[in-house]
Amino acid sequence: MTSPHPIADHSRLSINTATTRAQWTLKEAIDGYAKAGVKGISPWRDQIAAMGLANAAKAIRAADLTVTGVCRGGMFPWADAAGRAAMLDDNRRAIEEAATLNAQCLVLVVGGLPAGSKDLAGAHAMVEEAIATLLPEARAAGVSMAIEPLHPMYAADRACVNTLGHALDICERMGEGIGVAVDVYHVWWDTELKQQIDRAGKDKLLAFHVCDWLVPTRDMLMDRGMMGDGVIDIPLIRGWVEAAGYDGFHEVEIFSELDWWKREAGEVIETCKERCLTVV
Ligand code: ZN
Repeated sequence: MTSPHPIADHSRLSINTATTRAQWTLKEAIDGYAKAGVKGISPWRDQIAAMGLANAAKAIRAADLTVTGVCRGGMFPWADAAGRAAMLDDNRRAIEEAATLNAQCLVLVVGGLPAGSKDLAGAHAMVEEAIATLLPEARAAGVSMAIEPLHPMYAADRACVNTLGHALDICERMGEGIGVAVDVYHVWWDTELKQQIDRAGKDKLLAFHVCDWLVPTRDMLMDRGMMGDGVIDIPLIRGWVEAAGYDGFHEVEIFSELDWWKREAGEVIETCKERCLTVV
């Protein structure tokens, strides 16, 4: 299959607030994105807390932005009973925030190994137990959960679910109300990617995140590239998710301490807009 049609306009452009986290508060991001003609936003919870949930919800509504995700719930595996209780509390607050913001999904970064543990299978089991506990509450709140598989370099400390296939296996065991967030940064290398996107289909594809993989990558977390500056064939992957039925937003999510966080936020947004029309 060849690449899909180029994106014609910015009607499905969302920006994850991590992209301008160094420059803009959430309030500034809401105003700045809306003024630039961006239609979606995906805020982080620390920024929501700093602004206040009610204030954030009001400002996002007034700016007519679609909340394409709330980042993030998860970090499930626990070391002891108190850790488990705190984790569940935190995820319950995340569900409430996603509901209040009318978010299209609550992104789940599932967590890695508890401190001192080498029990990867045990961590996987904790992830499923926690999701099974929380999912009925998310369903009741009208919140869709989206497991975001992370690149395997994060398996120990951030997410022990590293492929779309594993994420979809979990979704199948959980039933309704849970799907996946496909972030090209995390899954571009996977030989089964197209097959697993097909398997997910429209029902399970809840979010599509774009950025690029730089060579060399100078920092595991904070050196994501602007679309077009790296090695990911983003139009190819967009073609796969659209062929599978996805018709939602394209969410730009760039952690870039070494480059884009040092630039003026307006330049970052204009570059995102231009690249979405040319290389996404
Ligand atoms: Zn992402």
